[in-house]
Amino acid sequence: MGTKGREAQLQRTDYSPTAQALQNSSSRDLGMHAVESNPKARRSFVAIETSSYSGATLLAFLLSAHPEIVSIGEMNGVIPTEDIETYMCSCGKRIRVCEFWQTVRCAMEQRGFTFDVVHFDTEFVMGGPHLAQKLRAGSFRSAKVDALRDHFFLTLPGARTRLKRQIARNIAFIDAVLEVTNKRVFVDTSKNHLRAKHLAKYGALDVRAIHLVRDPRGVFASRLRRSANLDARDAARQWVRLHERLERMFNTLPTMQVTRVRYEDVCRAPKEMLAQLCEFCGVEGDLHSSDLRGLQHHIVGNPMRLTNYAEIQFDESWRTRLTRAQMDQIMRVAGGLAARYGYL
Ligand SMILES: [Zn+2]
Repeated sequence: MGTKGREAQLQRTDYSPTAQALQNSSSRDLGMHAVESNPKARRSFVAIETSSYSGATLLAFLLSAHPEIVSIGEMNGVIPTEDIETYMCSCGKRIRVCEFWQTVRCAMEQRGFTFDVVHFDTEFVMGGPHLAQKLRAGSFRSAKVDALRDHFFLTLPGARTRLKRQIARNIAFIDAVLEVTNKRVFVDTSKNHLRAKHLAKYGALDVRAIHLVRDPRGVFASRLRRSANLDARDAARQWVRLHERLERMFNTLPTMQVTRVRYEDVCRAPKEMLAQLCEFCGVEGDLHSSDLRGLQHHIVGNPMRLTNYAEIQFDESWRTRLTRAQMDQIMRVAGGLAARYGYL
């Protein structure tokens, strides 16, 4: 059993502050401060936080039909294994010759940053050995220990300088895209929770997060298309770990507004859900499906960027594609959290 149309509403979450002291002192240390009290004039960064195969690209695409919202998909840019000479921007042109990206490069240069579509250089990876990176990006399943870990990494030589530089580069990039597109709200689907976390802690942007959830059985069925040997229990464990980690992050960032939405509700009641999400993003006016046709977009990352989204396809094929045993294995591991998100 899944969700029902009449239940299609955003879950207002009650993420409460738990680590404000550390956040405040760190902001001061980095010499950055929150700016502008007028929310209407402020530029916003909205991260869609979710797992792969949960509809982030679809949601970003739908939101970017709003005259004040833009998304370029995954802000980490083109992954290094792709051939940049043949890589297609979602506008239908090779990314090398897409005018949009050339204009973004100029806007970045005006802000003092070199920029190349080959390498966005916007990722929050701090270098160092693999183990250190894992420790840095992972979670100890405790907000307090995670906060101590973050504090420790910032004491390493050069760490603060690198972090400051990366935050400044990210803000310049977001600002450049907003300027080039004449929009006010930037939506990111890169699923790099460190970006939202660092921008919310130290950046000067209004940072919000859409916690997008999808039934773990649907996520597993979609993943199965790519890797047939995937184990249902492993996939369920990963799903639980990711969403628990996201919830912990939201809890420790009182400055970040968070809302939760189900992929299934977006597909079943797109008009209502998008209206609520637009309100959450701080923009006015409705989106109409006719806006999707002829919509200009330059999305990178997820292969789904090349999909024609004029019609929303609701993929619930997991109900017939998964075996009863697979469904049971998933729900034995993920059932508790899934039930909290409304999946029974
Ligand atoms: Zn393009």
